[in-house]
Amino acid sequence: MTAWDSEVDLLVFGAGAGGMTAALVGALEGLEVLLCEKTAMVGGITSTSAGTIWVPGTSQSVRAGVPDSIEAARQYLGSVLGYRADRAMLDAFLGAGPKAIDDLEARTEVKFAAATAHPDYLSNHPGAAYGGRALGALPFDGRKLGPDFDRVRPPRPEFLVLGGMMVTRADIPSLLAPFGSFANFTHVAKLLARHTLDRLRRNRGTRLVMGNALVARLLYSLRRAAVPISFDTSLTELVQDDGGIVGAVVDSPAGHRAIHARRGVVLATGGLARNARLREQLFPTAARPYSLAPEGNTGDGIATALRSGAALDAHVATAGLWMPCSIRHHQDGTKALFPHIVLDRAKPGLIAVNASGRRFVNEADSYHEFVMAMLELDRTTPTVPAYLICDRSFIRDYGIGLVHPRTRKLGTFIKDGYLVEGRTVRELADKIGAEPDGLETTVATHNEDARTGIDQAFGRGSSDLNRINGDPANKPNPCMRPIGPGPFYAVAVWPADLATSAGLSANQDGQVLGPDRQPIPGLYVCGNDMASIFRGTYPGPGTTIGPAIVFAWRIAMHVAENVHPIATPTQEPERAARDRIPGA
Ligand SMILES: Cc1cc2nc3c(=O)[nH]c(=O)nc-3n(C[C@H](O)[C@H](O)[C@H](O)COP(=O)(O)OP(=O)(O)OC[C@H]3O[C@@H](n4cnc5c(N)ncnc54)[C@H](O)[C@@H]3O)c2cc1C
Repeated sequence: MTAWDSEVDLLVFGAGAGGMTAALVGALEGLEVLLCEKTAMVGGITSTSAGTIWVPGTSQSVRAGVPDSIEAARQYLGSVLGYRADRAMLDAFLGAGPKAIDDLEARTEVKFAAATAHPDYLSNHPGAAYGGRALGALPFDGRKLGPDFDRVRPPRPEFLVLGGMMVTRADIPSLLAPFGSFANFTHVAKLLARHTLDRLRRNRGTRLVMGNALVARLLYSLRRAAVPISFDTSLTELVQDDGGIVGAVVDSPAGHRAIHARRGVVLATGGLARNARLREQLFPTAARPYSLAPEGNTGDGIATALRSGAALDAHVATAGLWMPCSIRHHQDGTKALFPHIVLDRAKPGLIAVNASGRRFVNEADSYHEFVMAMLELDRTTPTVPAYLICDRSFIRDYGIGLVHPRTRKLGTFIKDGYLVEGRTVRELADKIGAEPDGLETTVATHNEDARTGIDQAFGRGSSDLNRINGDPANKPNPCMRPIGPGPFYAVAVWPADLATSAGLSANQDGQVLGPDRQPIPGLYVCGNDMASIFRGTYPGPGTTIGPAIVFAWRIAMHVAENVHPIATPTQEPERAARDRIPGA
């Protein structure tokens, strides 16, 4: 018999999007909840993310004037996932998504807006949406949190400007041209005035946007619902009896403690990104060196569940979800990892090449597709790192990675090796170790295509996603213009995981499954700890946080015995069997 130190109804591990939502909704459903977080701050990767959630068919899409249809989303997912689709899981997500988001909005301060123009990432598939499916948390005033403001994990420093100010994509045009119009001027003046005041009192700005806004809204709502959060408290072991999981042992500032969970334990510890053994086992070699996950995401939820008889589901297209990242080495030995998400790759006048000096991908496609192409080709031709290539006018107009647009002096970036400069294409090729003839031919071919606007090799600029991240003022193709004259520049990019897609096997209510596909009573999972329902594909902006929130909501409802099963067409047995076959 375990001697319990305390007991609750629902014991939640990990204060990211998944865990915070499960704890919050559980408490609203009347459960006694304890949320345990390993570090001193809430937020995990969620805090450092763009915070977009992909949830089709919401009332928020109607409110934004871009109504979305679940039927179209089902068609889209069917086309993108193909044989990998688990229809029961997808229907659980699609059916509960709009309800979960409405419920959060109605009962908490977690509020969203649907983007009118934020296309699905594989927008050439049937059923893809141009807007309405990607939702973002509304900006949040961090001052409302009082002392809890310091409990919110800050964003990546690479994404902050002016000593700690968060900016959204919508802020950038005004910041680049503050005197361009009266509206630009007033917007920038307001941002700066607020930020100056903030910095007098705090080490960063309190106007929270993107992932930080989502986490801050969840924290604010958790406090209002009086949900206790135990910081620096780490799950170390699950406690099991004949009936299933009944609690857990934690490592906390008060020492080891055994906590009885009367109704359930939720694992939401952010996935296996920093678990050296699972990383080695599941990630391609070329993708192992770099991760965007915080150090604390060491796969504890997954590892403890595996010890308790859970099944690992790694039958996914790829165990990680990826972003191409450039790396700047600082003099003090630290390094900045910059994810090339949307600001440069799709802009006209940039190509990506490998060691042969050849292009290998439509550079304007999603970050995940970009890295998938990199990893695929790297099996036969060195493509890790790959190089983003542009000229001086590109850097002036759009910036590249950590070099902001309009940066006049590139000397420090060149000196520390972040940026490589060549007077000619050949010289640049020599410096980055690419084949000079290959790179010269590639640039010449690209420049010919840029004049007609048709990228014959990869169709750059041919999808909604490409064009929205390009430059609308650039004609005829918003994603292509000739590169040159020199000098020319290169930035090296490596794959880094932004999330993991392999994880614990689970059912529609987030119950963890054993190898026999039967639920382990009392054990639930959401977020990156759960195998991705999109099976290693990346359908759209918000691919991980959308399901994290929706399944967290389903878990809380299930635990509270308040779930209303959503009618789902059952999988035909033959297909279900095929879905479970590795690599089928
Ligand atoms: C730059 C960037 C941008 C991104 N943008 C998006 C986006 O816009 N939309 C999207 O869907 N995804 C995005 N992602 C991915 C997304 O942020 C993550 O997949 C998601 O936030 C994971 O949520 P989670 O709740 O599973 O984990 P996390 O948010 O990482 O939370 C897990 C928490 O568990 C804690 N923990 C770990 N071990 C233990 C333990 N033993 N006991 C207790 N607590 C523990 C951790 O400290 C952490 O706080 C982005 C990622 C990056 C890097």
